[in-house]
Amino acid sequence: MHRITLGDFELTILSDGNYRMDGGAMFGIIPKIMWEKRIQPDERNTIPLALNSLLVRTGKQNILIETGIGSKLSEKSQSIYQNQARLLKSFEEAGVSPDEIDVVINTHLHFDHCGWNTYYKDGKPVPTFPRARYYVQEGEWRHAREQHERDRVSYMTDNYDPLVASGQMQLLKGDAEIAPGIAVKVYPGHTRDLQAVMVRSGGRVACYPSDLVSDAKHLDPVWTLGYDLYPLDSIANKHRFYDVAIPEQWLVVFTHDHETPWAYLEIGDKGRPVAKPVGEM
Ligand SMILES: [Zn+2]
Repeated sequence: MHRITLGDFELTILSDGNYRMDGGAMFGIIPKIMWEKRIQPDERNTIPLALNSLLVRTGKQNILIETGIGSKLSEKSQSIYQNQARLLKSFEEAGVSPDEIDVVINTHLHFDHCGWNTYYKDGKPVPTFPRARYYVQEGEWRHAREQHERDRVSYMTDNYDPLVASGQMQLLKGDAEIAPGIAVKVYPGHTRDLQAVMVRSGGRVACYPSDLVSDAKHLDPVWTLGYDLYPLDSIANKHRFYDVAIPEQWLVVFTHDHETPWAYLEIGDKGRPVAKPVGEM
């Protein structure tokens, strides 16, 4: 269990387990001969990725950032991604119940970031976190609804439409404060409206940049995901992110890193950002 104190807040990494994605798609234009030095693909060319959620206990509220893949995939999709749907088990291990969650924040609506927003009960999607208010950017939801041929496979309407229809999910227009010490900041690139989550307490900052910097193997600004809709924006926004995250010593939480769920960043020998280990309690 990865847990740390940030000012008055307690931060815990929860996980929906690992899954597998095509290594080429994850590294975009980076040649395999370079990325396979950082992570070894299997015979199907897939690599393991984590589904890390962040639980923030502020003392007044419990905030959950991201909800993994969930339990609603078809058998065929599950055999492709080899996901484990273990987020609720991870809740148990952390001694927290889904009823205790006050706020759920989705950075965007790709299937591997909002899957446990809902689960099927008698064949119908119902909220996994019944008391929570859910948040996402309105632009992201509109794009998801567009079902564009480029990326409609990444969106599963049962993860969000029932929550928007019932009013339980709130659609944001740009940067916003969600609760004291918890804010979202839009960093376009992976999708046009991807939002990072900023956690601030006692003068310290943690940030969950989601697929802007998905894991410690993608720290180099030009190592962007093949899935990114606006790769030039991804590069510009990674620089914008590092320009503050490095001097201000932000704790960076990686959505898809199965080895390093969080790290501080510094500029390494080659002039590029590298991860520094975190001392945990
Ligand atoms: Zn994504």
